[in-house]
Amino acid sequence: MFFKRKAETVHECSICGSPNGGFHAKDGWICPMCIPLDHTLDRPSVDDIRSLHIKDEGLISRIESFTDTEVLADLHFDDVHELFFKGPYPNRCIPVLSYSEISGYRLIVDERSIAFNSIGGERSVMRVRTDEFIAKASKDITDITLEIDSSRSNVKVRPYVIRSMKVRVCDTKQDCLRFAMKVSDRFDSIIEKNILDKNKSS
Ligand SMILES: [Zn+2]
Repeated sequence: MFFKRKAETVHECSICGSPNGGFHAKDGWICPMCIPLDHTLDRPSVDDIRSLHIKDEGLISRIESFTDTEVLADLHFDDVHELFFKGPYPNRCIPVLSYSEISGYRLIVDERSIAFNSIGGERSVMRVRTDEFIAKASKDITDITLEIDSSRSNVKVRPYVIRSMKVRVCDTKQDCLRFAMKVSDRFDSIIEKNILDKNKSS
């Protein structure tokens, strides 16, 4: 005698129709892509959740094609489609910027911009990168934050905290600084390309 295995219940997401509806809303099921990451609603309805989504369909459609080619903690890059977002995973509440819409960045260490670049603005790149320098420079660091500027008027990227009293992307200060340098190099090259493209077209 054998028992037929009960098929796992599939809940279709009430918003996008995906079969991963794991979150129970008041009047339906919601998938991870549709549930806002930081919502504080108590038993929200499907409409409550939908109201928190990005309204710009052009931005939403980028989520579908997004494929990670490089992930640096919560910073996701798709070099094939030239797309970027900041967050743990693609979500209808997180804007996905095209590389061409990234207009500037600043790496701020304890309120000082140590590396930056922007279209039409100034550029500064960290030149000294020896282990000795990093060991010395990272000793007294408290905060490391990355700011990203968007040229898309309806998108504002919130500052990304790499290190603070509460947050640490890497365990040690040295590794946080190394990570910050890697990330700033990434944005620097995106912006350099945007500047080149802009000069080509003008
Ligand atoms: Zn969904």
